[in-house]
Amino acid sequence: MGKGYDASDATTSALCPLPLALTFIMNISNVIIIGSGPAGYTAAIYAARANLSPILIAGLQPGGQLTLTSDVENWPGEPTGVLGTQLMEKLKQQAERFGTKIVSDTVTEISGSSSPFTIKTAGETFQAKAIILATGASAMWLGVPGEERLQGKGVSACATCDGFFFRGKEIVVVGGGDTAMEEATFLTRFASKVTIIHRRDEFRASKIMIDKARSNPKISLLMNMVVDEILGEDHVTGVRTRNVVNNETRDFACDGVFMGIGHKPNTAIVKDLLTLDEKGYIVTEPRSTITNIPGIFACGDVMDHVYRQAVTAAGTGCMAALDAERWLEHQSS
Ligand code: FAD
Ligand code: NAP
Repeated sequence: MGKGYDASDATTSALCPLPLALTFIMNISNVIIIGSGPAGYTAAIYAARANLSPILIAGLQPGGQLTLTSDVENWPGEPTGVLGTQLMEKLKQQAERFGTKIVSDTVTEISGSSSPFTIKTAGETFQAKAIILATGASAMWLGVPGEERLQGKGVSACATCDGFFFRGKEIVVVGGGDTAMEEATFLTRFASKVTIIHRRDEFRASKIMIDKARSNPKISLLMNMVVDEILGEDHVTGVRTRNVVNNETRDFACDGVFMGIGHKPNTAIVKDLLTLDEKGYIVTEPRSTITNIPGIFACGDVMDHVYRQAVTAAGTGCMAALDAERWLEHQSS
């Protein structure tokens, strides 16, 4: 049965190692979930159904990365595909149905090296016995001259957000993974021509995505090529490319450049608190979501540099809620 959120639920003494009076004064939540992608919402569904009255802080990108895409074809149970935005709205509704309180804010700081933790946003300060981190990942940029200056003037990392502006134009997509293939294919709805520029002679993307791109007559491929500069004064006019085999440079005319070169985990708020691996992902104990700090759990793309799929993010979100629930139970026993 679903039930509405009641702040007093979040301070239930049954799971609390602190004296009830102190708990009440400090209004300490059982669990705060940070992030509203598939991992965060799934953690919220499980935590709410376990009567933990979770609070979920949604961040700057409510719904997470899937809100940047159109059709999601590999989410189980949706045989004809589902729009990314629609899927995330459904997950949100499911989390709310069981009593998750959703806060539209961004966490700026987490303090406390042991439970309870203090979580600050621009507008509020929260306390929680347990935290589930589901802050996901963000698009990477090349860091070449012209890129920052021309953002919003032809340089983008979101085809679904900005593709519409490139009707009848020529576009370059940089990268060789699923994102690059998907962005290129999507952009052919608007563009007259899309060129994928990839730094190697082999793609990282899955075969089905490569085949889709290769068979699209509007898409051309430039392999063993890097972009050294984005050209243009007040809008993109081209890219300076370099062939990595013979070092030859060439200016390639285009109206837009879309980055599809991968993502980096969003760990700024925990970089001094949690153990991260060499790529910046949160390290968790094998086959769990347990971090180096008892009471802090991590799920989804922020701790997974291998699978990075919506369904695996949701799966680890479920694991994080179960890990948190068991940890809270253990604290109170
Ligand atoms: P994310 O979806 O990245 O969500 C992170 C959340 O954390 C966001 O809500 C953000 O607002 C929040 N956040 C970050 N920092 C803070 C903070 N400081 N305070 C509060 N909140 C914060 N996967 C598939 O399986 N199928 C697909 O078809 C597919 N298509 C994709 C298309 C594109 C263009 C991209 C970029 C990815 C695609 N993926 C796809 C991958 C999939 O989107 C991710 O694996 C998945 O979204 C990861 O979920 P997550 O919950 O871990 O994080
Ligand atoms: P990715 O798999 O890490 O691929 C990044 C690509 O960009 C690689 O080809 C990489 O080249 C290239 N690259 C990285 N840095 C570069 C640089 N500085 N200059 C030039 N090229 C650079 O990232 P992704 O494509 O964003 O995919 C991330 C995850 O999301 C994956 O797990 C993917 O399956 C998933 N996803 C799934 C779907 C779907 O199922 N429909 C859609 C999108 C994303 P190298 O290959 O040489 O390293």
